[in-house]
Amino acid sequence: MRIAVISDVHGNLPALEAVLADIEKGSYDRVVMAGDFAFGGPWPAECIEVIRERGIPAVRGNTDEFLVEVGSGGRIPAHVSTEAQRHTASPALRARYEWAVERLSAAHLEYLASLPLAYLVPAPGGAALTVVHATPWNCHDTIQPDAPEATLQAMLDAAGGQALAYGHIHVQYARALADRLVVAVGSVGLPFDGDQRAAYAILTFNEDQGRWDVAFRRVAYNVSQTIAALRASAMPGAEGQIAVLETARPPHG
Ligand SMILES: [Zn+2]
Repeated sequence: MRIAVISDVHGNLPALEAVLADIEKGSYDRVVMAGDFAFGGPWPAECIEVIRERGIPAVRGNTDEFLVEVGSGGRIPAHVSTEAQRHTASPALRARYEWAVERLSAAHLEYLASLPLAYLVPAPGGAALTVVHATPWNCHDTIQPDAPEATLQAMLDAAGGQALAYGHIHVQYARALADRLVVAVGSVGLPFDGDQRAAYAILTFNEDQGRWDVAFRRVAYNVSQTIAALRASAMPGAEGQIAVLETARPPHG
């Protein structure tokens, strides 16, 4: 069984299309989307539509929750665990969310609001793969590649099964803990690891050994097309997003 896990598209349609074309060149059983569809890029609605049209199962990301919060006038708040995680408290970020919400339909927002926190891929012997955006308990907490082993154990315990794949941190890594596996799949539309290419991961269930293995993928796409669209967009904060796309490094860092 081969599962392609994509995440953190962030409204970058050329990156999403390049990744889906790359996935379709190989063999796979399912594509799963680990959240952060729309926020920060010039094509928020189009990215949601491409994923919905293809029937790709998905979970919600933190920025998806904030889009719903802003789009519902605060009726459906994001489930942050610390107030510092609340993007919508920052006027600059809030303006960018409002720009994206103006480009989404009620159906897009309803779709984002309906997404679950976790998606389970069953495997023989209870060796399931769980896909989440950030952690199995919420889509906001940030678990970095150098997190203490106890934190990764807690993620695996909360998810159950044998493997956990997540997005959110926009870098790729894998850590094995005994016979279990934690994978960060990277970001399709906004990588933070210095490599501009779109990132995703393929998780393969090894029937003989009863465990999941990961292969990281990178796909070149037309980054200048996305930068040009951002420049033309008048999206608040577009210059900051352009700097992230140009350097493939996180904002302010
Ligand atoms: Zn993200």
